[in-house]
Amino acid sequence: MVIIMHPEATQQNIDEVVSVIRSRGLEAKIMIGEQQKIIGVIGDKTKFASVPVDAMPGVDHSVEISKSYKLASREFHPESSVIDVDGVAIGGAEPVIMAGPCAVESREQLLESAEIIKAGGAQFLRGGAYKPRTSPYSFQGLEVEGLKYLAEARERTGLKIVTEVTTVEAIEHVAQYADMLQIGARNMQNFGLLKEVGRCGKPVLLKRGLAATLDEWLNAAEYIMNEGNPNVVFCERGIRTYETYTRNTLDLSAVAAIKHLSHLPIIVDPSHGTGKWRMVKPMALAAIASGADGLMMEVHPNPAKALSDGNQSLTPEHYREAMAAVKKLAAFMRTL
Ligand code: PEP
Ligand code: MN
Repeated sequence: MVIIMHPEATQQNIDEVVSVIRSRGLEAKIMIGEQQKIIGVIGDKTKFASVPVDAMPGVDHSVEISKSYKLASREFHPESSVIDVDGVAIGGAEPVIMAGPCAVESREQLLESAEIIKAGGAQFLRGGAYKPRTSPYSFQGLEVEGLKYLAEARERTGLKIVTEVTTVEAIEHVAQYADMLQIGARNMQNFGLLKEVGRCGKPVLLKRGLAATLDEWLNAAEYIMNEGNPNVVFCERGIRTYETYTRNTLDLSAVAAIKHLSHLPIIVDPSHGTGKWRMVKPMALAAIASGADGLMMEVHPNPAKALSDGNQSLTPEHYREAMAAVKKLAAFMRTL
């Protein structure tokens, strides 16, 4: 951190700031120029986190230099991480595809979906048993009953299961049946939930918050990792902007940015990212071209009858088409 003193700051103001820095076991570097009086703080910034330095007499403002997330940062872990989910590698040479309905609606719907997903070549079946719906009157999910159908689908197909956990109380149930826990956009900054999924030890798919900056998203990963769980995968799912044609604005630049800032893998969800099934295939291809480690796509045996997110769900036929194109593009990407 760098502290910029006000041009009229006194020597006593500077001494007081330096003494606070040293009292935290940190080093202070004082630079007095013709126009500027600057103090550099050197050492572990977490020791200084609670100091409201901008409020001290004579301080103009302070500027953070190092990042507040360390475990998620590439700075301290230059090698890209590959996250193993029960034998499926996320972040390796092959993009990993997670597909399935928005919600588990019934045993029949889910088992039919699983067959479609398996045949199309995805490695993960997705489907929400706990649904964070905007309206309390919308379908809220089958909860434990839905988790059991997901586990049955895994038995039948060998697909891995990723499903959302919305509350701390639900973690033990979801962890019992799923291979990977999804933290949804609405819970990206539910810090109590992040800490608990960090303690539960299962790999976590961390979706980007509805209006989260990259820094906030990276810090959310840090919460999980700080509890001893290094197995975190990011999922870009669009952010809220002034555009209303699409449900969200899919920020594919986040893929390149996260790859630079973090060693963790990142996948892209073009379904929630656009809200329109017609846009899912082109944006899925763009995501793979941008270097994403995989995709999450909503697929329903009959989108017109879906209890949630039918408008953005692919039909089985469109899913097969999208998968064929993704496979071709992924093979081409490996030649670059
Ligand atoms: C979902 O994956 O079905 C979901 C609710 O996504 P998000 O949290 O990104 O809105
Ligand atoms: Mn959905």
